[in-house]
Amino acid sequence: MNSITKIVPQQAKLLDKDQQFVWHPYSSLSAPIPAYEVVSADGVYLQLADGRRLIDGMSSWWCTIHGYNHPVLNAAAKSQIDKVSHVMFGGITHAPAVELCEKLVAITPDGLDKVFLSDSGSVAVEVAIKMAFQYWISQGQPQKSKLLTLRRGYHGDTFAAMSVCDPETGMHHMFEQVVTKHYFAPAPQISVNESWDEEDIAEFSNMIATKKDQLAAVILEPIVQGAGGMRFYSPDYLRRVRELCDQHNVLLIADEIATGFGRSGKLFACEWADISPDIMCLGKAITGGYMTLAATLCSDKVSRGICEGEAGCFMHGPTFMGNPLACAVACASIDLLLSDDWQGNVQRIETGLKTQLAPFTELDAVAEIRVLGAIGVIEMKQPVDLADIQKRFVDAGIWVRPFGKLVYVMPPYIISDQELTTLITGIYTVLTQ
Ligand SMILES: *Cc1c(COP(=O)(O)O)cnc(C)c1O
Repeated sequence: MNSITKIVPQQAKLLDKDQQFVWHPYSSLSAPIPAYEVVSADGVYLQLADGRRLIDGMSSWWCTIHGYNHPVLNAAAKSQIDKVSHVMFGGITHAPAVELCEKLVAITPDGLDKVFLSDSGSVAVEVAIKMAFQYWISQGQPQKSKLLTLRRGYHGDTFAAMSVCDPETGMHHMFEQVVTKHYFAPAPQISVNESWDEEDIAEFSNMIATKKDQLAAVILEPIVQGAGGMRFYSPDYLRRVRELCDQHNVLLIADEIATGFGRSGKLFACEWADISPDIMCLGKAITGGYMTLAATLCSDKVSRGICEGEAGCFMHGPTFMGNPLACAVACASIDLLLSDDWQGNVQRIETGLKTQLAPFTELDAVAEIRVLGAIGVIEMKQPVDLADIQKRFVDAGIWVRPFGKLVYVMPPYIISDQELTTLITGIYTVLTQ
């Protein structure tokens, strides 16, 4: 049927059409759960079509660190769109991309010197993994073609990314026949401020030592395991991973797509352990949540290693690579972040979350509370009923989107103390109803 003969009921409301035509993340089209229509957004607020206004506790999945409709980011987008909104990146360059790459090299840990831009986090992970594989192929060691990662990790939904997501909460089971098999060490158990015990990394240490000849890289999320479980782990673990990678000649890929740009209390979570990875992935908050953009950074050693190989170049080049509009907003977002007291804001949110989430530990249904930087996690004993709880959060004037047993928030850094209290009080009310 073409669009002219397709019968769209005259009176169909937007939400009906949404259910008829649109696929949402991890959603069923045969038993759809109604979505909420957002018509505008400003600061920490989402404006719904039905007139209600919600405090966004999710920063649209870690992205909108400065809040919505920010005048500085709006101005950057408007100014760039009048110059050039997109141009191919093969053989052509432009100021927004060059400035962004220079800034990223300047603010990320030492030794990350080269930047490959792409469209989304999952693609940045694909690029990182491909860099690691191509590096070893170029070095005459193509047998180094496996990855070592941690259980409870999350690295995205595309195939290479999927292959290093947690084998149980991820999609390994269903896609067993098509996902490449890699190695999984147990998830770290010691949290950020707990005292270190070498036992926590014993199994990882054993695995890297015995598999080193097959290993291209270790890939992990530094300090904060995000969508695979919302868990925090010891900087000593990360420091030991770096040492073990060096000792066994394995590259280290740090996926900072969720943690980058201040979320954990450091500008990049690698700073907790004072380490530099060989390859780093950035995304999510890179444009302050305005547009889709991601970056994979690597060391001179990796870039040289790749380029001196048989191919003579890195074998990747997305159509929308280095999109000027996204790069211009990313530059403005980074400048805004660094000119703000972002660390003061994140600390303020951390203190507020610690104080206000403490009473939740007394609730029968709650297993554990965890807070790091501007991330607050309430782990329930049982999985929540998403459809039911989502509606009750909206009725309470807040946007919180749990998964499994995890009710969690990572608000925009600009959230006021008052708004944070409204957000946490709303969650408390819903969980105690
Ligand atoms: C969200 C996320 C990704 C995937 O990013 P997309 O933009 O959704 O493709 C990868 N790694 C981590 C750590 C993430 O949080």
